Amino acid sequence: MRLMRAALVACSLGLVFLAVRSVTADEIAERARKLHFSSIVLDTHDDTTQRFFSKAGFDMAERHSDGHIDIPRMRDGGMNAIFFSIWIDGRIMGPPAVQKAIDQIDAVHQMVRKDAKDLALCRTAAEVREAHRKGKIAVLIGVEGGHMIGNDIRVLRAFGDLGVRYMTLSHFYNDEWADSSTDKPAHNGLTDFGKEVVREMNRQGIMVDISHVSDKTFYDALEVSKAPLIASHSSCRALCNHVRDMSDDMIKALAAKGGVIQINYEKSFIDQAYKDASEKISGGIVTAMNNATKDCGTDQECVERKVRELQQSMEASGQLPAVSWERIVDHIDHAVKLAGAEHVGLGSDFDGASMPSGMEDCSKLPKITEALLRKGYTDDDIRKILGGNILRVMESVEAVSKEMQAH
Ligand SMILES: [Zn+2]
Repeated sequence: MRLMRAALVACSLGLVFLAVRSVTADEIAERARKLHFSSIVLDTHDDTTQRFFSKAGFDMAERHSDGHIDIPRMRDGGMNAIFFSIWIDGRIMGPPAVQKAIDQIDAVHQMVRKDAKDLALCRTAAEVREAHRKGKIAVLIGVEGGHMIGNDIRVLRAFGDLGVRYMTLSHFYNDEWADSSTDKPAHNGLTDFGKEVVREMNRQGIMVDISHVSDKTFYDALEVSKAPLIASHSSCRALCNHVRDMSDDMIKALAAKGGVIQINYEKSFIDQAYKDASEKISGGIVTAMNNATKDCGTDQECVERKVRELQQSMEASGQLPAVSWERIVDHIDHAVKLAGAEHVGLGSDFDGASMPSGMEDCSKLPKITEALLRKGYTDDDIRKILGGNILRVMESVEAVSKEMQAH
């Protein structure tokens, strides 16, 4: 009654009576928690395969104090869908590359079989949604580097049959048919065979991933592909000028064709000061990885450990600046402002990159949802960024494949 009188007085004075009170920090945190843990959170790039493949006895079902991913921490962080990356050094080509890729694909299949209580191997967006409904973690497979098809289109088809749902056209080195962003151009983008590979990927329903490729390869793939492209783990060059990131023009062109940029959390890809300092001291992430390869050979887990140890010692001695996890949110926000919330997602590079402070592993993911809510993003937009966008791209890649196979 008293409240009504107050409202009437306010109206009679020509004021609008608003029963608005400020939202507390706790309420945002609670809203974020509910939103995050009811969403499909699909990360498109994780190098954990190298851990369960090369480290005998690594158990996904156990909680670990090192690395970024295991089932208990995925549950803690609400990460319920993941692309495990198949990776071998880009200088290995031909039949040995094919063999090693198949060994790793088999390792993913075996791991899903072993932890079938928690995991489900998925090939389509519908299967990811179904796994989510059942409370399982959706496991998908991405091949990181076109060198693994051994220059043979039939191998690409076989990969598709084995459940591979994206292929990155190159890794750090050019392959036989695509230029990499971190190598000297040899093909002027994609060769004719490279363009045939892209068309065959469209036919097989394998997403074309342009992370790691040169700018020219990106524009060639964009022109040839009948389906939207993805950048499975790249950030924004406007905020950190690294060749592994995408320029504003590239992000806009990717989005105009329905694609999505999945933001990478690697410190040297998201923070300019860190990237500059790291290049000055060690020649940058690519050189550091090349040097580590000399000691580790093809053992990727060893390469990543060595690079991480080098970075940690440089950080401890103050040679490298600290990078906050909030930079990840800056990159998401930049891409959203540029291309819209429909074209941005998450491609952490967990277990393959060095994480900023506050994003030590996948259990910290709910912080991203909360930060986006605080920035004023709608629940709907956040769900898209967490996983809805990449599922939409998968659906449209599936539709293109169906259409091409019908003819
Ligand atoms: Zn990569």
